[in-house]
Amino acid sequence: MKRKHKQMIIIWVGLLAGILLFRGGWMTYAGLGIFLLDLGLVWLLLRCPHCGKPVRELRPDKTCPYCGKKVE
Ligand SMILES: [Zn+2]
Repeated sequence: MKRKHKQMIIIWVGLLAGILLFRGGWMTYAGLGIFLLDLGLVWLLLRCPHCGKPVRELRPDKTCPYCGKKVE
């Protein structure tokens, strides 16, 4: 799976969490759960394959800001 696709999944899951939080009631708790899941996805999907750190934003030349190696 490409990094762009992974980012799209994370954005959509985040949006879903936001919608549920906004609706209130018991859905607030569901929204919080999904929000935490989203954070987990960020950690799981957007890690640098070289140093293993979670990388939300790459440098403009698509290298990891921690180890400087090319990620894509
Ligand atoms: Zn790295």
